[in-house]
Amino acid sequence: MTTDCDFLVIGAGVSGAAAASELAALGSTILLEMEDQPGYHSSGRSAALYTPNYGPAMVREICQAAGAFFDAPPPGFAEHPLLTPRGALTLGIDDPEGAIDALLKDAPPAHPIEEISLERAIELCPLIRPGVFRRAIYEPGVRDMDAAAIHQGYLRGFKARDGRLAVSAQVTALERSGGAWTAVTASGRFRAPVVVNAAGAWADRIGALAGATRIGLQPCLRTVILVEVPPEFCRPSQPVGEVIETWHYFKPEAGRILASPGDETPVDPMDAYPDDMVIAELADYLERHTLLKIERVLRSWAGLRSFVPDHCPVAGPDPRAEGFFWLAGQGGYGIMMSPVLGRATASLIDTGALPEDLKERGLTPADLAPGRAALRESAADAMG
Ligand SMILES: Cc1cc2nc3c(=O)[nH]c(=O)nc-3n(C[C@H](O)[C@H](O)[C@H](O)COP(=O)(O)OP(=O)(O)OC[C@H]3O[C@@H](n4cnc5c(N)ncnc54)[C@H](O)[C@@H]3O)c2cc1C
Repeated sequence: MTTDCDFLVIGAGVSGAAAASELAALGSTILLEMEDQPGYHSSGRSAALYTPNYGPAMVREICQAAGAFFDAPPPGFAEHPLLTPRGALTLGIDDPEGAIDALLKDAPPAHPIEEISLERAIELCPLIRPGVFRRAIYEPGVRDMDAAAIHQGYLRGFKARDGRLAVSAQVTALERSGGAWTAVTASGRFRAPVVVNAAGAWADRIGALAGATRIGLQPCLRTVILVEVPPEFCRPSQPVGEVIETWHYFKPEAGRILASPGDETPVDPMDAYPDDMVIAELADYLERHTLLKIERVLRSWAGLRSFVPDHCPVAGPDPRAEGFFWLAGQGGYGIMMSPVLGRATASLIDTGALPEDLKERGLTPADLAPGRAALRESAADAMG
């Protein structure tokens, strides 16, 4: 049996859910998810931080724009605030590339970062080992995000607009005929003139099914652990600490410390799992750079952050495959960017243009396009 609709969205992570809820306001929309629940992959494995000064300039612009949505989501979206204060301390030992000065220089007045003394840094974050770091900067605007509530908010909005979610529906083929795409899944065939590819780490594979342009997506694995610590090392107001040279980070998480080595290991798309050696090295690093004594790792997991070569997101129509739209390459910023990219995707499909507030920020469809030069060149390299 084939089910018809106006829009098919492939992938029910935070990106697909955000786009589907916007598209459902424009026409009948079906969201296809290969797992038996939405959010099983990257969207359910993040560090859940809102970091408005992180990533390339375009990403920062999008994340800063998204702050307005998180601060005042639509009525009924969530029962409590989506962002709560956290703050971030960035610590440097040698910083040979001058990354700390670059962060200080690039921070706009609305999202300030200031240099502070190491004594003040230790007051804010008492688990820092004295004598290890030489510089510290503080960004008060970094906040914790309720990633699960954000994801659920989109799915609820989608359902309220009569959207249909089909789980256990892995897309295994995409066929175009008579001006429409048919997605073949184990749960049936679904047909629509427009398909949105929000398949996370699998997005280039979905593109290949449609004969679309290759965007050069590289999934990278990141490891996270959760450890028990004495209460004095995990105060509720304690900022996240991160180390500029290696991107190791550690932050309070419901009375425990969540830590990551900031790893970025290239892998094929998969159900990511942590490596025991990486966890052992992380425990050793934490003992040398903080006052933590890691006796037991309570939980560990890994997730994929998928990047295209310029580390900026991809949203827009494929230059080759008619009716095929990309929403991919969200890297380590996909929860933060989701409200803006969901809205941008729906607007590009509906009118070919970006919403006015994004235009005013200097964003153009060409910046987000799957056919942009940085991605074409990498696809040519891969072929040549
Ligand atoms: C350790 C870690 C920390 C992070 N920290 C942050 C953070 O602090 N802040 C932040 O904003 N971001 C963070 N991120 C990044 C963020 O999690 C991702 O950018 C975001 O979740 C990507 O969402 P997505 O919907 O594109 O991908 P996913 O959540 O992976 O969703 C893609 C979906 O597509 C489905 N799919 C794939 N193939 C098919 C198919 N053939 N048919 C049907 N469905 C298919 C998958 O099952 C999956 O559910 C972090 C990521 C990791 C791993």
